Amino acid sequence: MSSTNLKPGGEIDAFCTSCKADKVHRIIALDRDGKTPKKVECLSCKGHHLFRLTTAQKEAAAAHKRASRGDKAPATTKAPRGAKGHALATKKREEDLVASWEKAVVGKDYASFKPYRIDQTFTKGELIRHSKFGDGVVAVVLDAAKVEVLFKDGPRMLAQSRPAPVAAP
Ligand SMILES: [Zn+2]
Repeated sequence: MSSTNLKPGGEIDAFCTSCKADKVHRIIALDRDGKTPKKVECLSCKGHHLFRLTTAQKEAAAAHKRASRGDKAPATTKAPRGAKGHALATKKREEDLVASWEKAVVGKDYASFKPYRIDQTFTKGELIRHSKFGDGVVAVVLDAAKVEVLFKDGPRMLAQSRPAPVAAP
């Protein structure tokens, strides 16, 4: 693109709407940004018309658009990057939980774990052996009847201090 004479009176290659061809034009007026020709005069037919890119410039612009869409595309990478950040934060939290669980549970001997029963009352930090979820540690005592227990696969809310269910015969 000949961008050296981008000022009124300068010459520029443009598509002439009268000649229906790429011709040399004289710039009559620039666009508001001062960088794009707005109105031009065709040096061949002396016609005045709005600036149109030459066929070659249009193709170059289209090619550039295609290339930048693949290479940079800053507008389109923003959303996935945010989603990825969220996923990473979630993953980090999961890793933290696993680390806390391992720190609390791994290496403790069998006798340190209290078998989980609904009629038991637990305290924070207490080790629990659950028949279904395995070994866990009481992370939070939510209230008199609920505790949050961290198991290897994540935290679970368990009931506590409830009347024991009638034992099956
Ligand atoms: Zn013309």
